Amino acid sequence: MELNCGPFTLEGYSRSTIETYLKVNELNICFDIGKCPMSLIHVPQIFISHFHGDHSLGLTYYIAHRNLAKLPPGQIYVPAAAEKAAHDLIRAQAALEQARRQYELIPVEPGMSVPFRRNMTMQMFATDHRVPSVGFQVMETRHKLKPEFMGLGQQEIIELKQKGVEIVSPQHLPRFAYVGDSTIMVFDWHPEIMQSEVLATECTFLTDEHYEEAEKRKHMHIRDIVPYLDHITSPHILLMHFSMRYTRAEIKHWVQHWIPAKHLERIHLLI
Ligand SMILES: [Zn+2]
Ligand SMILES: [Zn+2]
Repeated sequence: MELNCGPFTLEGYSRSTIETYLKVNELNICFDIGKCPMSLIHVPQIFISHFHGDHSLGLTYYIAHRNLAKLPPGQIYVPAAAEKAAHDLIRAQAALEQARRQYELIPVEPGMSVPFRRNMTMQMFATDHRVPSVGFQVMETRHKLKPEFMGLGQQEIIELKQKGVEIVSPQHLPRFAYVGDSTIMVFDWHPEIMQSEVLATECTFLTDEHYEEAEKRKHMHIRDIVPYLDHITSPHILLMHFSMRYTRAEIKHWVQHWIPAKHLERIHLLI
């Protein structure tokens, strides 16, 4: 499914236990890989939040097809605690196919920050789930004219530059946050993600009868998210990873039911 979220065009699918991936076209990256539809083979950078099968099963397929197509090895960012098992899995698949596979796993941990394209870094944050997991936040650095130089003409700016005066200062803008699977704790631990231009968060459970399951399975219930909406400044909030127990119509119904009307226009659904 394709979805416009502010300045970003997203391609993705997300249902709990079935498959989750979210491709950000403008950044040419994908969060999680699901079962790896063919459209993801050409994405050079993949960010895996955790290794539950619905988020990661397509990894060996991605690697095999990039090898077949003679593309450079994709850069696959994975939670450091899962790195060894991920290598073992990839090698086992290669052994079964009697093939040699080129690939690059990059272990990441909460608190790390890695540049991944010009002016963009990915910051990893801790999430609260049943297996090792991380969330990802895209930060963009823009260089802005310092206030004291605003209003100067082009010629004066050029002269200052030639004199070696530092006329710009860097600004770090939170563009996109991807939570992956987590309990609601992630917003207490990392309030900074609530300022991202786009905030993509799981919202697995929707009905009262499933409220306890959210905590038990380390997921979110929409009732947990509602009180945070007043603190989330993101103009675009993408809810995803709904349980298969709900039809598309039911998801729309419960979202309308729980989310206060004043927040509804910021809400996007990946269903
Ligand atoms: Zn999941
Ligand atoms: Zn999971």
